[in-house]
Amino acid sequence: MSESALRLLIFVAIFVLVALSEHAWPRRPRRQARWTRWRINMGLLGIDILAQRFTLGAAAVTMAVYAQVQGWGLFNLQAWPPWLSAVTGFVVLDLAIYLQHRLFHRVPVLWRIHRVHHTDLDLDLSSGFRFHPLEILLSLLYKVALVAALGVSPVVVLVFEATLSAAALFNHANLCLPARLDTALRWLVVTPDMHRVHHSVVPAETNSNYGFFISLWDRLFGSYRAQPAAGHVGMEIGLRDYQREDRLGLWQLVLIPFRQPDPVQDSAGRPDPVDSVGVRRSDSGSKSNVR
Ligand SMILES: [Zn+2]
Repeated sequence: MSESALRLLIFVAIFVLVALSEHAWPRRPRRQARWTRWRINMGLLGIDILAQRFTLGAAAVTMAVYAQVQGWGLFNLQAWPPWLSAVTGFVVLDLAIYLQHRLFHRVPVLWRIHRVHHTDLDLDLSSGFRFHPLEILLSLLYKVALVAALGVSPVVVLVFEATLSAAALFNHANLCLPARLDTALRWLVVTPDMHRVHHSVVPAETNSNYGFFISLWDRLFGSYRAQPAAGHVGMEIGLRDYQREDRLGLWQLVLIPFRQPDPVQDSAGRPDPVDSVGVRRSDSGSKSNVR
């Protein structure tokens, strides 16, 4: 069996396992029909795969091989024990993805792209596919630069990418883990309950829990929030300005970075203007979705 077939098989197995677990132990009732969302999120995944295949392809692994041959990067400057460079490479890549996520929330033009991911009105494993193709390509360029600077080995890059894909399925899952298991797990990795806080409509909660796999970074850098104020069943998922299902079709999502958010109504029924980074002008308590 080829390496890519094996990776696909492992990914499909994890997908089926998480999907069955969601079905057996759901955390929240669904607001939108499952197949409507799955069709949209899978459609976005298809666009992402095509966009990557016809532009940068497997650029991160290719760069890792090239850096190894050329002796580029921190890990190639001197002989590190292989296990140490592998573990350090993996951990540093995960930290870099955490920092990238914070940047996507902080910089207005990047938030325009990343908010597509936050427009999902429910959260389940398919939300792990809901990324705009521009975010996928920018993230890949960032990873390529990082791999070149560090000289991370191709095997570590492959393992990291596979882990991140599996983690995205798991941490977006609509899955109710026993509280004690969740508490124990989240000392090490991001759990569905921990990541769900990040998908709350409450800006202070949206701007917390940025981690994707290792949970340490949020605790270390002060962005950790244990639970949503309204509870996991009572909390509202998504963004305040993107609550209309009929405005969240596949092609509408692709165009979101280039359009203004939907005008929302204020208490008197008038349109409440929202600026380009998602700030509702009348919202004096919290100035922005970005921080
Ligand atoms: Zn985010």
